[in-house]
Amino acid sequence: MAFASPKVRIFLWCGLGGLAVLVAASVLVTASVRLAGTHSVSPTSNTNGDSTTEAVHRVDTEEPVVFLTIDDGASRTPEMIDELQDSDVPTTLFLTDDYVQQDPEFFRELRDRTESTIENHTLDHPDLSGKPYEKQREEICKPSDRYEDEFGRRPVLFRPPYGSYDDTTLRAAADCGAQHLVHWSAEVADGELSYAAGDELVPGDIVLMHFRSEFSRDLDAFLDQADEAGLRPALLTDYLD
Ligand SMILES: [Zn+2]
Repeated sequence: MAFASPKVRIFLWCGLGGLAVLVAASVLVTASVRLAGTHSVSPTSNTNGDSTTEAVHRVDTEEPVVFLTIDDGASRTPEMIDELQDSDVPTTLFLTDDYVQQDPEFFRELRDRTESTIENHTLDHPDLSGKPYEKQREEICKPSDRYEDEFGRRPVLFRPPYGSYDDTTLRAAADCGAQHLVHWSAEVADGELSYAAGDELVPGDIVLMHFRSEFSRDLDAFLDQADEAGLRPALLTDYLD
């Protein structure tokens, strides 16, 4: 390069620029394909109406597994960590950065003492649908950057608050390194389970729970129902790739 004439230099820079565009394009295509996935899905049309993007609501599996996801992080007690450790249940934690910053040590201890992964649930829990790309990107990329620093692993899953998202969310999530946007197919609250379909857990169900004061009742209700349905709790990241 040091000996290149000005014309050659311009040619080289154009070449590098073109290469960068190609690399960026292939990353975007790869990310979109990964987000589309092959799982049980709910399609949404994009703004042009000419293609669809998809998110995971349930995991398509024949194995007798069920997935417990615990969201937000508003309520935190040492007993919660003890209970999760004692029950030996793997969990996928979709944490809101505001709560993580209040008490990172709680989540570090939870991660260390249980089989769990820390995933992304935005900076401060907004309804993302309809928000501009830059705002959505900030809400998703900043927690991923921070969790990577704080916990030594970059989240690969993203759950939008209230399950609310649009095409821009899928694009922003992919650009921030999230491989899947995860919804849910059952929920446990106040010690009771509710289902998107049917009246019991089935293989591949993703169950939504929260860090709330009813934590102990909710965890017991989930474990009872999983047991009754003959399902083994498992980690989402072991079944989504
Ligand atoms: Zn939430």
